[in-house]
Amino acid sequence: MTEDRESTWGASRFARPGQGWANIGRGLTEAAESVTDHHHGAPLPAGDPVSVLAAVNGSLGAPGIPESGIGESAALSRLARLVAEFGLDLTHPLTTAHLQPAPLSVAVAADALASATNASLDTYDSGPATLALETWTVQSLARMAGFGEQAGGVFSPGGSISNMLALMIARDHTAARRGVDVRQDGVGALRRPVVFCSRVAHFSVHRACAALGLGESAVIPVEVDAHHRMIPEALERAIRQAGEVTPLAIVATAGTTDFGTVDPLPEIADIAERHEIWLHVDAAYGFGTLFSDRLSGLLRGVDRADSVTLDLHKVGWQPAAASLMLLSDADRFVSLNRSVAYLNPDDDVEAGYSGLLGQTLQTTRRPDVLKVAATLLAYGRRELGGMLERCNDLAVYAEQRVATELQLELIAPVTLTTIVFRYRCADLDAVNGELRRRLITDGKALIGRTQVRVPGQDEPQTCLKLTLLNPETSESDIDELFDELLRLAIEVESESTSVAGDQARSEEMVRVSE
Ligand SMILES: *Cc1c(COP(=O)(O)O)cnc(C)c1O
Repeated sequence: MTEDRESTWGASRFARPGQGWANIGRGLTEAAESVTDHHHGAPLPAGDPVSVLAAVNGSLGAPGIPESGIGESAALSRLARLVAEFGLDLTHPLTTAHLQPAPLSVAVAADALASATNASLDTYDSGPATLALETWTVQSLARMAGFGEQAGGVFSPGGSISNMLALMIARDHTAARRGVDVRQDGVGALRRPVVFCSRVAHFSVHRACAALGLGESAVIPVEVDAHHRMIPEALERAIRQAGEVTPLAIVATAGTTDFGTVDPLPEIADIAERHEIWLHVDAAYGFGTLFSDRLSGLLRGVDRADSVTLDLHKVGWQPAAASLMLLSDADRFVSLNRSVAYLNPDDDVEAGYSGLLGQTLQTTRRPDVLKVAATLLAYGRRELGGMLERCNDLAVYAEQRVATELQLELIAPVTLTTIVFRYRCADLDAVNGELRRRLITDGKALIGRTQVRVPGQDEPQTCLKLTLLNPETSESDIDELFDELLRLAIEVESESTSVAGDQARSEEMVRVSE
C-alpha cells in the first residue's frame, strides 16, 4: 500500500495501543517543533486578509488530492507550519477579541485521547467508558448549578445548539401539557407560540425559533436597564400584553456576550413560576462563575431554571466544542426518545445495553467529555475559579486605564471579563472600526468590536471591546495594548480627517467650477 513513498511511521497506521499511540506522540512532538519554528509571534499574521489568504493558498497550491502522499510526518509538519504562520494565537496576551480562550494543554491532550478512542455516545457498545464519564460530568456540573437528583443534561456542539435543544424540549413539554404532540403533528396545532428574552439576548435564540418552526417573529424582546439586564417589570408587562399566545419559554441571559451582564434571575424565576412558563438560562458565558466563590453570587437563582446552556469552550478554557445543556428534570428528554432497531432495541435496553441516543438530535456523538473531565480532575473547582478571578481582575484593570485616558470613553463597565469602550473623535463609527482593523493588519493586537445603543443616540454606535480570558496576561500587557491603540488612533483619526478634508475641498472645487 505504501510502495511509492517512504513510510515514516512503520507498519501500524491506526491509533492502536502500543506502536499506534507512540506514533501519535511522535506526530504531536514533530508538529510542536514546526509550530515553534514558524510561529508569527502575534495574535494574527500581519497583513490584510487578501494577502494573508493568498499566502496560505499559495502554499497549498491548486485544489486537488495528491495522487501519492508525502507521509505522515511531512503532512503533519506542513500543516503545523501553516497554522503557526497564518493562524490565530489565542495564547498571545493581546488576543482579546472573542469569547474564544486559549485552550488548556491538558484538555488538548485529552481531546487527542477522545479522538484515539473514537467512541460514540449513542449506544453502550459504541464505548462504555465515555458513556459513564459523560453521565458523571453532567451530574457534577448539574450539582454545581444547584440542581437536584432528578437533573440530567447532554454535551452539544455549541451554545447555539444547546439553546436550540433547550427550546425544543421546552416547546414539546409545553405543547404536551396542552395535549399537543408536536413531534407527530408539528407546531401548527399550537396557538401563536412565543419566547420571551431580553433585547440583548444571543441571536441563537432567534435562530432556534426559526429552526423550530416558530419563526423569528415568535421572539418577544424585553426591555433592558442601563446595564443591559432584563427589566422584570417589563417582562411581566410583555407577558400580560402578549394576548392569546402559547408562551414556550422565558430565556434569561447569565453573561451577555458583549457586556457579561446577568439578568436578575431570582425575579425572572418568580415571574416564570407565577405564569407557569419554562425558564431557560443561557449561561453560555456566565456559568464558569460558579467555579469562583467570589463571583458565583452573580448566578444566584440559576438553580430555579428548567434548562441551562453552558459553554466550557468560553470560561472553562476548553477547545471547542465543550457545550452542555442541563435539565432540572431528566424526564423531560422524553420528546427526544427514539427506538432504532440497529441501535437500541427494547430487549437490549432492558438488559442494560443502552446509550444516550435519546438525549440529543445527533446519532454519532464524539466524547467531548474527556477534555472536560481531564480539566475538572486536573485543577478542581478552586483553581479554575482562581483563573476566572484573575481574568476579572485584568478587566477591572483595563477599565481603570480607560477611565484615566481622556481620549477613551467607557461604555460598559466590568461584570465578568469584558469591557466595552470607544475612542472619542468626530467620526466615531468609522475611526473605531478602522482602528480595530489597523491593529490586526499591523499584527499588534486583536480586540473586539460591537454596536451599542448609547444613551442619547437613536442608532447603535460602533464600540470596541476587550474580552479578557487569558489569566497569564499581565497588567503591563494591558498597558501595552492601550499604548499601541492610542498611538494608532491618532494616526487613523488624522488620516480620516484629512480624507474628509480632501473630500470637502474637492466638493468645494466642484461647486466653484460650477
Ligand atoms: C457564545 C454564546 C452563545 C453561542 O454559543 P456557541 O458555542 O458560540 O454556539 C449563546 N449565548 C451566549 C450568551 C453566548 O455568549
